[in-house]
Amino acid sequence: MKEVIDRIVSCSACPLSSSRTNVVPGEGDLNTPVMFVGEGPGEEEDLSGRPFVGRAGRLLDKIFESVQLKREEFYITNVVKCRPPGNRTPKQEEKKACSHFLYAQIALIQPKLIVCLGATALSFFLETPVTMKEARGRFYSWIGGIRLFVMYHPSYLLRVQSKAPGSPKYQTWEDIKLLKKVYERLKKGESFDTFEKDIRREMEGDGQ
Ligand code: SF4
Repeated sequence: MKEVIDRIVSCSACPLSSSRTNVVPGEGDLNTPVMFVGEGPGEEEDLSGRPFVGRAGRLLDKIFESVQLKREEFYITNVVKCRPPGNRTPKQEEKKACSHFLYAQIALIQPKLIVCLGATALSFFLETPVTMKEARGRFYSWIGGIRLFVMYHPSYLLRVQSKAPGSPKYQTWEDIKLLKKVYERLKKGESFDTFEKDIRREMEGDGQ
């Protein structure tokens, strides 16, 4: 991973290199079964060189804490490692230029599950545009038996107030509870295929 990070630090393969302050390679537990992948660094991430440390990152920490999880238990990164100016969505060519770094990180960590933060990150993996409405709550199969799951990006959640049933915040609460159950089974070395139905049943029993 150090070699990958060294290469990211010296990368100038796309125009985002000219406007960045720092690269934001990612951080966390390299032995985790679960990776979180967002779209790209924001302003505070660009200044600090660390992923999800701004307001959205603090909300992500709270989401973890709501089910007694900590960010250090996971590896957290983004599709592009340099901040797009004004926090715009990364362009296709930028994502393409940066993708080999993310693939290298995935190959090193070998997660069982990748949680995409926002539909842009999921669309990157699926190589087709998807919306949160159609993708939320589903586990997608990806290369090497890895599953993909999508949650609302915390920066989107900062812009919505309602916590009513069916709202994005309420759905995020449902999603993180589901993820905790999945994470605990994966940590024990269980295969996703063997416990997916159990977990769904448990969640229905919890009133979801
Ligand atoms: S976004 Fe990725 S490809 Fe573009 S300069 Fe940064 S590290 Fe290199």
